[in-house]
Amino acid sequence: MATSVDLLETPIEYLKGVGPVRADVLKKEAGIFTFNDLINYFPFRYIDRSKFYNIAEINADSAYIQLKGVLSQIRKAGKPRAQRLTAQLRDQSGSIELIWFAGVKWIEGNLQEGAEYVVFGKPSYFNGNYSLPHPEMELASEHAKLVVEKLQPFYPSTEKLKSKGLDSNGFRKIMKNVVVRIKGFIPENLSDEIIHELKLIPREEAILNIHFPSEIRKLDRARARLKFEELFFIQLNLLKLKLIRIDKLKGQTFAVVGDLFNTFYTKNLPFELTNAQKRVMKEIRSDMGAGKQMNRLLQGDVGSGKTLVALMSMLIALDNGFQACLMAPTEILASQHHKTISRMLEGLDVNVELLTGSTKAKQRKAMHQLLQSGELHILIGTHALIEDTVQFNNLGLVVIDEQHRFGVAQRAKMWQKNTIPPHVLVMTATPIPRTLAMTFYGDLDVSVIDELPPGRKPVKTAHYYDKDRLKVFGFMKRQIAEGRQIYVVYPLINESEKLDLKDLHDGYDSISRAFPLPDYAISIVHGKLSPADKDYEMQRFVRGETDIMVSTTVIEVGVDVPNASVMVIENAERFGLSQLHQLRGRVGRGADQSFCILMTRDKLTNDGRERIRTMVKTTDGFEIAEADLKLRGPGDLHGTRQSGILDLKIADIIHDEKILKYARNMAAKVLEEDPKMMLEKNKPMLLFLRQMNRYKTNWSLIS
Ligand code: ADP
Ligand code: MG
Repeated sequence: MATSVDLLETPIEYLKGVGPVRADVLKKEAGIFTFNDLINYFPFRYIDRSKFYNIAEINADSAYIQLKGVLSQIRKAGKPRAQRLTAQLRDQSGSIELIWFAGVKWIEGNLQEGAEYVVFGKPSYFNGNYSLPHPEMELASEHAKLVVEKLQPFYPSTEKLKSKGLDSNGFRKIMKNVVVRIKGFIPENLSDEIIHELKLIPREEAILNIHFPSEIRKLDRARARLKFEELFFIQLNLLKLKLIRIDKLKGQTFAVVGDLFNTFYTKNLPFELTNAQKRVMKEIRSDMGAGKQMNRLLQGDVGSGKTLVALMSMLIALDNGFQACLMAPTEILASQHHKTISRMLEGLDVNVELLTGSTKAKQRKAMHQLLQSGELHILIGTHALIEDTVQFNNLGLVVIDEQHRFGVAQRAKMWQKNTIPPHVLVMTATPIPRTLAMTFYGDLDVSVIDELPPGRKPVKTAHYYDKDRLKVFGFMKRQIAEGRQIYVVYPLINESEKLDLKDLHDGYDSISRAFPLPDYAISIVHGKLSPADKDYEMQRFVRGETDIMVSTTVIEVGVDVPNASVMVIENAERFGLSQLHQLRGRVGRGADQSFCILMTRDKLTNDGRERIRTMVKTTDGFEIAEADLKLRGPGDLHGTRQSGILDLKIADIIHDEKILKYARNMAAKVLEEDPKMMLEKNKPMLLFLRQMNRYKTNWSLIS
């Protein structure tokens, strides 16, 4: 007898209605290889096909709608190669145009003028009129005969899937076939205890009802169960990882707070720490003193003073006889860190070096030797630090700035740079909504700096359209006259780097004309410059030799020029919210009132307008992060789309916060009672987890 696992793992080509050709496109386009994959391919929407809309009720917000009316005026228009077909549909309330751009001949041959049709589609609005492009058409008499499910599921599809007949309709057909086959074979993956406690429906019932719900209440319960399950297993995985790490890995014990730290604190520190910085330092110190490996995420808004926390943590490592390193995502940022930190350590007996991709071979070799002998104490750099040739004498602490650009594989390599793995402190400047943090960094301990250093005036933000450029130039001139410096930033979007550079150069030309030598000096920095040129231009600006820094987003992270008080962001509508927030964080670091000017073209999309409005309204990083999450969805944050980490099938980080909390608590409870998951009742969960990790190799990327 076939077990349920065998059946669920049946290759998809063996399903009735699929075959090799469709199987191929299902694999490539939707990652569907087996029966099990198919039943886990969920609808994204349900439509009540027993309801009809009045044509007069259609408005800009209408999603998919179903109409019933009489067809008239079937016409072809346009050149033979770009032909379209139009027709009118009329009901008692009004009429609407139906329109087809492809398959014109075939469709025309199948439509009957004067007949009553049931029409289904998504209205679009153009030139003051609504139309229905490529609607599904069915004679009303046929529609009445068909037994349509009340709630009809709609499946995500792609052009390639559709070209093989796998639109929603096609998916519905094969889904019906698979459901018949697997009914009675879908194993439960949660313990009875959890199912009882949370009053969940069984897994099989949930799967059947997510595809073909008999009523809305059943659908709701199916959704709740599947969302919980999805979030629960993510949390279980994360917390299990954490347990394994705590269990398996020893950590260095930094027992003393010694001379370096104390001298720095009393002599070199030019200001009082904020309370938040003090609290975070305490958390870090107690982690590093506990004999376990620290894995801590340090979250804090731009300008909250994370670098200082990193530096003091490194000094503790040094005081205990260890070396430390700081890894940054770009050369500019690494060299900026190197300069700041070297300056702050003046007078202390600490050797600090910078290692990046452009470090000369000779220097590099010398550095390697000093590292191995232990004479080099703090190494700052880029990915270059990860290379195997970089060997420490006794590495005690790794600080990673802007973590999301590094994968865990890279981090693990840093762990291996010492027999007992070094402590790890990950710093991220982008505020992350709590729910996302819980999922994304769920296995790290978190410290938050929720307070800016005193005396900071919030940056004033204004929005100007391109046509008001002269006003903005006038404002810039007044600021420069007061001795301030200004950033002008252009978007850089990889796909069209050429176009972006053109924007940048055009902008540079017009700024050069408005701010001519010898009265004004301008720096320009972009990704195509050699690191040495970049650095030269940056340093001129840092030293105050130039008034304006024209650049692409290379200055996005970490640059610190307290005298710069104006940030002009060109084409601001093309930036995401968190990027705008990062950029704005480049100013407002000195004592002067700072300004952020968002320049946009005259016409904005709704999203674009909402982003600009949010920026003008608030400087609170967390508020901005929430708004960002709402506007873009979690898939886009932190490049998670590429990495696939937050590829949630059904749960939704924004709306399912409550379920997420249940899921996390429940996962914690399970592991607390049964850390290795050996108990009989937890077996289904362990099995499922193993299966899931076999497929989702991405898992290891988390944290
Ligand atoms: P971020 O968290 O964005 O990395 P930085 O560490 O670059 O922030 O700090 C921003 C600026 O604030 C720096 O110029 C730093 O010297 C200054 N700063 C940090 N902590 C304090 C403090 N407690 N009081 C005053 N200024 C501070
Ligand atoms: Mg920083």
